[in-house]
Amino acid sequence: MEITTAAGMRVWSADQRAAGRRIGFVPTMGYLHEGHLRLVDAARAVSDVVVMSIFVNPLQFGPTEDLTRYPRDLPRDRALAAGRHVDVLFLPDAATMYPPGSDTRVVPGPAAGWWEGEVRPGHFAGVLTVVAKLFHLVMPDVSVFGQKDAQQAALIRQMVRDLDWPVALVVAPTTREADGLALSSRNSYLSGEERRQAVGVSAALRAAHELWRAGETAADRLEAAARVALQMYPGVRPEYIAVAEPDALAPAASAGAGCLMLIAVRVGSTRLIDNVIFGEGIP
Ligand code: AMP
Repeated sequence: MEITTAAGMRVWSADQRAAGRRIGFVPTMGYLHEGHLRLVDAARAVSDVVVMSIFVNPLQFGPTEDLTRYPRDLPRDRALAAGRHVDVLFLPDAATMYPPGSDTRVVPGPAAGWWEGEVRPGHFAGVLTVVAKLFHLVMPDVSVFGQKDAQQAALIRQMVRDLDWPVALVVAPTTREADGLALSSRNSYLSGEERRQAVGVSAALRAAHELWRAGETAADRLEAAARVALQMYPGVRPEYIAVAEPDALAPAASAGAGCLMLIAVRVGSTRLIDNVIFGEGIP
């Protein structure tokens, strides 16, 4: 079933709760891939009914970013969601989410100042604001996010904790292509040659993680290993490659288990991000 209005979403959720059903929620921007669908599977494993939202949130895009050309294919998304037995597709439009005069924003903490937040000012305020609104409309018991967007997941976890939200969070592992490339709606921007080069992103993370497994924990050496690995892929231009603390996201001088290596690159005009958790690695 599909719901497009805020009131309709609230009524449906209230009915489910009254019937004692646990609501699982997967927020997305659509152009679905297997990574999104595994979040649905993870939500289903811990809930009775699953809501997926598809909303390309204008608030999280900067003025020079890809909002207008962000890939969209609702008929295909419908078929993929139905194939994974999503109970409700919530499809609000921008006027529903941000009627005129809706100016309030969620202000993220300092963890939003690093990495993606540095390159994309205002991005995380946009993300947290839309997630806050979606949580109010869907009223989920549990919501599932992807480790692919590690900083986003950490900031949402902090928002839920800081604002006493009665929502359990699940962060599901990154789904990858056979060659290691993390699935992303933005991969559709890549030309054939760019796609071949893009494998360098996960190759760089894997190189750093292998060095870590061999006993190296100095962040600068791990970062250097990733950069050296990336030199094999001249089409990939690094924006940042860094070792960061798991929750605060601050740069770490030494990588303990659970620390992250975060990477952002450009391949042609396409921006890709990925990460690995030290101790877990890339499957
Ligand atoms: P998006 O539609 O790209 O905003 O992503 C919606 C949700 O799917 C977010 O929680 C993402 O972290 C998650 N996601 C995107 N790509 C992947 C992936 N390759 N593996 C796991 N989760 C993902």
